[in-house]
Amino acid sequence: MERVDIAVVGAGVVGLAAAARLARPDRSVVVLESHARHGVETSSRNSEVIHAGLYYPPGSLKSLLCHEGRRRLYALAGEAGIFVRKTGKLVVAADPSEEPALERLRRGAEAAGAEGLRLLDGAETRRLVPGLRAAAALWSPETGILDSEELMRHLLGKATDAGAIFLFGSPLTAVERRPEGWVLTFGPSGERLCAPVVVNAAGLHSDRVAELAGIGIDEASYRLHWCKGCYFRCRRPIPLPHLVYPVPEAHGLGVHLTPDREGRVRLGPDSAFVHSLDYDVDPALRASFHAAASRYWPGLAPEDLDPDTAGIRPKLSGPEGGFRDFVIAEESARGLPGWINLIGIESPGLTAALAIAERVAALAC
Ligand SMILES: Cc1cc2nc3c(=O)[nH]c(=O)nc-3n(C[C@H](O)[C@H](O)[C@H](O)COP(=O)(O)OP(=O)(O)OC[C@H]3O[C@@H](n4cnc5c(N)ncnc54)[C@H](O)[C@@H]3O)c2cc1C
Repeated sequence: MERVDIAVVGAGVVGLAAAARLARPDRSVVVLESHARHGVETSSRNSEVIHAGLYYPPGSLKSLLCHEGRRRLYALAGEAGIFVRKTGKLVVAADPSEEPALERLRRGAEAAGAEGLRLLDGAETRRLVPGLRAAAALWSPETGILDSEELMRHLLGKATDAGAIFLFGSPLTAVERRPEGWVLTFGPSGERLCAPVVVNAAGLHSDRVAELAGIGIDEASYRLHWCKGCYFRCRRPIPLPHLVYPVPEAHGLGVHLTPDREGRVRLGPDSAFVHSLDYDVDPALRASFHAAASRYWPGLAPEDLDPDTAGIRPKLSGPEGGFRDFVIAEESARGLPGWINLIGIESPGLTAALAIAERVAALAC
């Protein structure tokens, strides 16, 4: 049986960032990935927004790692030629009744360290994005967009150059704890490897992978709830220089307008708890997307919208639950030394990936 220093389960953006951070000539890293390539699940099914940390409680991992990850991401993109654009974003109160919620958002975001925020009145908002229906807006200059595939390809290349081995088509199916380390069984023919350190970066399946290691996921509060977010795409080009969001709702940030690098505008995501990995977007949702967006973007017609992609959030809280933070934990306290769980890495996981990798390195080495 092959022995390696570190095994990473999952080649989404978080597993890739961890492998890129950990691999080096004197430290062997193997990445197990179920799919035939990297980033097929949540990491390629999201808004591709670099978040500025407006929404997370001060001091939470989501807040701290969003800020650190964003700074690292902008710096890396500059060095490595990964597409990013600091577009800035407007969170819009469509009518005066939403202004107290906007003011609460501003206070919370400033307390959590968000930089450069400004409250704008309706006229100032429309100077930035003509045509918006806005009583007021919160301006966040640090928000941006990125090409997540370019980021993932860079991390894959960096990890591979440093010697990491990627085993695609290799789902982890069993885990056994032995004195010499973790024995992982994977792939269709039940191959095995042994590693003293395992990083569980299995995204939507990270609770099941933790269970394979012997963790009672209900007892540990690690059970994930899947929450689907669908997108529609605007058929006609809209010149949108900044991201436009409504005031946030319970399980997501609300149906927002996001331009991509080609200038096409996507609307979404909405949120609905689901039990299966079904990424279809029902065209019948067009009416609710139109209603949500036209509250602050009245120029939109329903026939402007085509169904686009969907993604699924790995949430630690269910429909009635409140805020839950990322789980980033080395599990010695449960008698499982060397097992590192990354669970509930929902938004802002893409923004935070490089900072999560630093935490993992501190736990692993
Ligand atoms: C609708 C939506 C919008 C979002 N928007 C944003 C945004 O704008 N900005 C932002 O910062 N974040 C956003 N996010 C969050 C972000 O996309 C995720 O936090 C991030 O992609 C998580 O990456 P990951 O590597 O943990 O998971 P994943 O990308 O899901 O990767 C996990 C990998 O593990 C593999 N795997 C699972 N089980 C096994 C197994 N047993 N054996 C081997 N491999 C396994 C899977 O195949 C998968 O490739 C959004 C998420 C959603 C759903």
